[in-house]
Parts: sequence; structure tokens; C-alpha cells
Amino acid sequence: MERDKQDDRVDGIKTFSCCLCGLTAPFESFGRSLGDHSRSSNKSKIILLEDSYLRQDPFASRSRPLFLGAHCSLCQKMVCSSCSLFYTRRFCKPCALLHRKAFPPELQLAETRIFQSA
Ligand SMILES: [Zn+2]
Ligand SMILES: [Zn+2]
Repeated sequence: MERDKQDDRVDGIKTFSCCLCGLTAPFESFGRSLGDHSRSSNKSKIILLEDSYLRQDPFASRSRPLFLGAHCSLCQKMVCSSCSLFYTRRFCKPCALLHRKAFPPELQLAETRIFQSA
């Protein structure tokens, strides 16, 4: 619902909240990788395919981004990973259902949580 653009990098802890299921979680960075609290070498940096809400994976021994969610490429809503799918771009569940013909059948079978309803 917030239409204003997020900064590329957000420092400090902010809250991610999914527009669809209401999940909220603190995130550390918005972008394609975890923010540079530089100390870690660039070599092992994980770069994602999309701008995402990320936090450090508390269960990983190495610095590894934990994907919380991202913005739907169509409606721009903030959605969590279980309410959306990534197929070249991020789509929230309502948008994916609306455009389901655009997705290959294999993907629709694989992403049952998105496509089983409706
Ligand atoms: Zn959700
Ligand atoms: Zn959408």
C-alpha cells in the first residue's frame, strides 16, 4: 500500500510486511544482496536476481541473505515468498492467477500454493 519508493539500501532494522498474508518480519536490507556491513569479502557475496527484502540468515554460519519478500512486478505490492512466485520477475498470487496463462503448465504444477486456488 505504500507507494513511495524504497531507498536502494536501507540501513538499520525496518519491518517487512506482506500485503497478502500479513506476515511481518524485520529486514536489514532492500536490494540484491545484504547491505555492506563490510567485513566479509566480496567474493562470497550472494547477488540475487531481484530487489528483495533481506536479512541475515540466523541459522547460517556464513553471511547469507535470507529472502523475506519482494515487490510484485505488476501491482508493486510487498509480498512474502509464500504469497508470490518468481518467474523471470516476481508475481504476487493475485497477479499470477490473473495472468496464469502466461505461465508454463509445469510451473503451475510446481507452484501449487499459488495456482491451486481459483
Ligand atoms: Zn504473504
Ligand atoms: Zn501483484
